[in-house]
Amino acid sequence: MPSPDHTARTHRITLIPGDGIGPEVTDAVVAILEAAGRPEACTFDWHLHNAGADAFAKTGEYIPKALYDSLEQTSVGLKGPVTTPIGGGFASINVTLRKKFDLFSNFRPIKNLPGLETRYPNIDLIIVRENTEDLYAGIEYMAAPGVAQSIKVITEKGSTRIAKFAFDYARKHSRKRIHAIHKANIMKLTDGLFLDCARKVAQSFPEVEYKEHIVDNTCMQLVLNPYQYDVILTENLYGDILSDLCSAFVGGLGLVPGANLGTACAVFEAVHGSAPDIAGKDLANPTALLQSAILMLHHIDEPATAARVQGALERVYTEGKTLTRDVGGKSGTRAFTEAVLAAL
Ligand code: ATP
Repeated sequence: MPSPDHTARTHRITLIPGDGIGPEVTDAVVAILEAAGRPEACTFDWHLHNAGADAFAKTGEYIPKALYDSLEQTSVGLKGPVTTPIGGGFASINVTLRKKFDLFSNFRPIKNLPGLETRYPNIDLIIVRENTEDLYAGIEYMAAPGVAQSIKVITEKGSTRIAKFAFDYARKHSRKRIHAIHKANIMKLTDGLFLDCARKVAQSFPEVEYKEHIVDNTCMQLVLNPYQYDVILTENLYGDILSDLCSAFVGGLGLVPGANLGTACAVFEAVHGSAPDIAGKDLANPTALLQSAILMLHHIDEPATAARVQGALERVYTEGKTLTRDVGGKSGTRAFTEAVLAAL
């Protein structure tokens, strides 16, 4: 018999809709989660807070204090993409949140959906990206007129804990191989330190094969034969670039989910950005955020609801009648969402 705690569960989630296609895909995902949770008596108490230019216009802060407070209280966030201005303007909201809540691990599973024909079938690889350091820390300054410098920060602590995360994951989920991706032939100190830490951690996991590839070669190897990779362990910037590359194996950025994990807080968001070119046109594919929400459901210990969402999503892809344009369909965001709701 289920325990009383398991008869009705309400999860407090900080919901950050973002901008661009963010509000469209978050609306879709919230509707699907609400419907999927109902038969499991799993409900959501959404704490809605936005960030970025929209939030600034309303509150005078790019990340309002109320958003920080909310994440501290709920410790779980579901987040749409927030536009980061290019070349100037405010600092990346994503990077700021990751640093503030020490969400050091960016976990990105890349897997085919059934029924969807893509460039490569049967892809099943994981990118584990360090999420708080590297050139991505955004420490930049003008050293002299006409000379800009950016500081790459790699620490023993940061490298060891992300390597440990990757190896722990591999052990727990019976993954066979980890490739550490680097450019230590050029950045001998920073990427060298990252590799030293990964090698040390690898020694405690003899059952997981450990290999190292240089990042430029990795790009070629991935396109030639992605099946040689199982878990990719890498630094922040390489992970950002390789994630977009790998998303193309399974149908593109509209599909690939992500989780930003720390010890006290987790924020689930798609790999893609705000895609301003298609915003507000009913063209966005909510699958990437929906798959991020499935990761979130597992994180909050709701495997039955996660399975219902996964099943409905897979049914819609297997039928292939109501897919969005980015994956070769003719339907819009709303019709796709309706199809997933109907499949539930
Ligand atoms: P960022 O650097 O902010 O992460 P990005 O480089 O990953 O952004 P995106 O804004 O995600 O770039 O989008 C790149 C292109 O991919 C978009 O122009 C859009 O055409 C497509 N795209 C991204 N996300 C989706 C989606 N959910 N549905 C459909 N197409 C998408």
